[in-house]
Amino acid sequence: MTTDGRVALVTGANKGIGHEIARQLGEAGVAVLIGARDADRGRVAANELRQSGIDARHIPLDLSDEESILEAARTIGQDFGKLDILVNNAGITDPEDGVPSVASTHALRRIMETNFIGTHAVTKAMLPLVKKAPAGRIVNLSSSLGSLALNGDPTSIYYAAQLLGYNASKAALNMLTVQLSEELRGTTVTVNSVSPGFVKTDLNGHTGHLSVEEGARLPVEFALQGADAVSGQFVEAGGPTPW
Ligand code: NAP
Repeated sequence: MTTDGRVALVTGANKGIGHEIARQLGEAGVAVLIGARDADRGRVAANELRQSGIDARHIPLDLSDEESILEAARTIGQDFGKLDILVNNAGITDPEDGVPSVASTHALRRIMETNFIGTHAVTKAMLPLVKKAPAGRIVNLSSSLGSLALNGDPTSIYYAAQLLGYNASKAALNMLTVQLSEELRGTTVTVNSVSPGFVKTDLNGHTGHLSVEEGARLPVEFALQGADAVSGQFVEAGGPTPW
């Protein structure tokens, strides 16, 4: 497939929503880098997209390994000299997470390490390349569970899912969105938190009610925003999510 010259990195793109985001970006004519920590899973995922005519290649990337993050940034810099789209998709839940009286300390550390600290490390490493693109787009895969307001609202459909570690990690990710968006105010780079909805994936034992195709749609829309792009938003299908 011929690409339009844009290049995207999707973290955790070997499966789930990330893999589908990569597919939809590829179908839109963007060259996609399949960030995956496992080389075999990453190569298989990239091959599958290439068989559909998408310009996809695996790039080794483990959010808990800073050297792999810096190496990925060096590779993208050498091969492309810029990064048009960064989709921070990789994320985890943890079986030892739960309400505050139950959640294990180790689980909280593991979740924050990947969903917030690792995502920040990737973003920081890629930022110089994103700034070199004509109109960089950073999309953070957040969750409505990261909304402080909805966690305290018994009428919310999300109220029952009080997972301290996971929800706090997405609230922290939202802080990255707000602060980085402010830091980049006046530039052409945008940063947004997008909630994909409750999607059937390994993350939730396939209990979600949306397909990955449906879940990838809004993150892709924000990744492909044009000249009138918004920044610093927290959105889900249907509109803004309360912080
Ligand atoms: P998934 O199917 O479990 O996929 C998660 C991806 O993240 C996998 O590729 C996984 O790689 C990767 N990953 C995890 N830790 C990593 C690390 N340290 N380094 C690199 N990659 C890592 O989950 P999903 O449902 O597609 O979730 C994608 C994103 O959407 C997550 O940020 C999640 O929080 C968010 N989200 C999902 C839902 C939902 O309903 N599914 C709702 C709201 C938000 P491995 O295969 O190697 O484990």
